[in-house]
Amino acid sequence: MKPFDTFVMVDWSGGNDRGPRPVKDAIWAAVHREGQAEKPVYLRNRQVAETWLMALFEEEMAAGRRVMSGFDFPFGYPAGFARALTGSDDPLTVWDWFEERIEDSPKGNNRADLAGLINQTLGKGRGPFWFNPLKAEVAGLARTKADHHNPFPEKRQSELRARGAFTCWQMGGAGAVGSQVFMGLPVLARLRRQFDVAVWPFEPLEAPIAFVEIWPSLTVKGAPREGIKDAWQVREVVRQVAGLPHAELAEILSVEAPEEGWIFGLGHEERLMPDTPPLRNDCFALPPGFHWTPVEETLSLLRSRLSPVTGTEPLATPDALGRIAAEEVLAKRANPPLPNTAVDGYGFLGGRGEGLHSLPLVAGRAAAGDNPGAVPEGHAIRVLTGAALPEGVDTVVLQEDVTLTGGEVRFHGPLKAGANTRRAGEDVKAGDPVVAAGRRLNPADLALLAATGVAEVQVRRALRVGVLSTGDELTEVGEEAAAGQIFDANRPMLLGLARQLGHVPVDLGRVPDDRATLRARLDRAAQEADVILTSGGASAGDEDHVSALLEEAGAMALWRIAIKPGRPLALGLWKERPVFGLPGNPVAAMVCTLIFARPAMALLAGADWAEPVGFEVPAAFAKSKKPGRREYLRARIREGRAEVFASEGSGRISGLSWAEGLVELAEPAREIREGDPVRYIPFGSFGI
Ligand code: AMP
Ligand code: MG
Repeated sequence: MKPFDTFVMVDWSGGNDRGPRPVKDAIWAAVHREGQAEKPVYLRNRQVAETWLMALFEEEMAAGRRVMSGFDFPFGYPAGFARALTGSDDPLTVWDWFEERIEDSPKGNNRADLAGLINQTLGKGRGPFWFNPLKAEVAGLARTKADHHNPFPEKRQSELRARGAFTCWQMGGAGAVGSQVFMGLPVLARLRRQFDVAVWPFEPLEAPIAFVEIWPSLTVKGAPREGIKDAWQVREVVRQVAGLPHAELAEILSVEAPEEGWIFGLGHEERLMPDTPPLRNDCFALPPGFHWTPVEETLSLLRSRLSPVTGTEPLATPDALGRIAAEEVLAKRANPPLPNTAVDGYGFLGGRGEGLHSLPLVAGRAAAGDNPGAVPEGHAIRVLTGAALPEGVDTVVLQEDVTLTGGEVRFHGPLKAGANTRRAGEDVKAGDPVVAAGRRLNPADLALLAATGVAEVQVRRALRVGVLSTGDELTEVGEEAAAGQIFDANRPMLLGLARQLGHVPVDLGRVPDDRATLRARLDRAAQEADVILTSGGASAGDEDHVSALLEEAGAMALWRIAIKPGRPLALGLWKERPVFGLPGNPVAAMVCTLIFARPAMALLAGADWAEPVGFEVPAAFAKSKKPGRREYLRARIREGRAEVFASEGSGRISGLSWAEGLVELAEPAREIREGDPVRYIPFGSFGI
């Protein structure tokens, strides 16, 4: 089977025309063409849908693209029905049979009469079909299942396996598919005659168009509460299917079900279900009513709307440094696993009161790693730090506190029972949580995981952070710079930040201020990176192509955040990848990355939201500030006080390099005098 270029998923409907305005329970279709998902299409009735499908197939055939087209109704009936109806086991003869007899218009159709007729011919007027959906009585089609007689199996093999699937004998009621089959097969039968189509799983998928039976509810769960579920579902399914590597798709499609057909993905649900639901298209929509959005508001919106975009993989514990735990990890073994001695000394059973004590020593000793033996009551044994306590030992006296004479150990009490020993599991018990989901594993975590017997952890795949510079003035350091040109400083900085924040930096290079070039580069970026950081061109001016393109893509917002430094931040999705359009000024680019992109990327990577830890120190400077916006100053601590860089100029890269952290001045602040407490956040708190 050759790969498909275009995928279209259709949520069919057996009802009448649903009107001009998009509503639920109509026909909805979603197209994914050459790697890009398009907006779901509302098709108000079957006539419109058929015309739309014809146009789509014509276009795709003319462009030489292979199409996989999914429809959410059964392509076949339970075994035996095809032969009884048409005299042939071939389900496609059933398609033609319906095509010849179904009359359909936006206002009405004859499906109920036809069902009644079939019942009268094949099931003594009492089945297989039931549930008359119309107001009027229909001969041979009962309203309820009472007195139902079905000469055929109730369900197809696939429906027995797919939990919650409806039988196609039911012609009406919530969730029923019977009518959809009657009203869908004739359309597919006509399209099949007009185009070169292979119907799955009945025909080998060699034709340029494949019709595939789908059932969105099988693998698409958790529709958002707002919006039209059918539209959301078809888009999710198309994204799922189009996102499959070709070999996996081929494997899922390799099915034997010559008469009844099958449901796409049945038996492969786990593989199709994403462990990272896609970001919502409006994840960067601006809050209403804000002219200048406060920093906290911006952060809390990012926090509530972003979710992990990285998949997971198992990794050996020693290799997992810096990776993010994808799920909570439980201790496999207690630490310590057995009670042991915390010191070098002599072990015995029970505490001892005041006075001199003397205990006979048994031969040998217990050292770390020894298999614990046993010590008889009233005896002591030499023990070395870390040794598991032998049976009959629960207390240890320090070697410094004893004298040894004639095979006896002597010491002065009192000594409490359990002294100088560690209880089994006193640190961690088997089954205790040791690492929370979302935690970036540090060296200490690796120690804890190893100590508690966890050899492998499920971690997030590393987030790929693409970095792109924009601007006609830019050239590459190391190359000749003409007058008027400057070296690209942001790219090495942002790539470095991405790396230090624990992600995989992806160098997307540099583009001039040219929309077509930028568009092409963003397309490529969407393939190579999970999130894209651009710098420059993010405002609303003539040469601000980043914001213009994101706006065009439809999921963009230009955030005017009450922050200095930092002009508008352009946030958007490009081919489903979040884009942070950072300001071109290096100081603003770095501050915006640390304050906004850093916690956002942490969420995208599957980590927890990460507030940087700051602390209050006296200011070594004085400054007047505009109230109402938050300011970040390049700063460092000297002699316990926060100094700030002499110039606040946003192009002063030397100040960034001079600084060891940022001073954060809250929105209401106006006058800062020397000695006033200010909040200092060391770069280390940001993880760089
Ligand atoms: P823009 O946001 O594109 O208007 O750029 C604002 C300022 O930042 C201009 O002075 C640009 O030259 C400068 N700038 C933009 N990108 C970079 C970069 N990659 N490296 C250094 N400076 C830059
Ligand atoms: Mg520019």
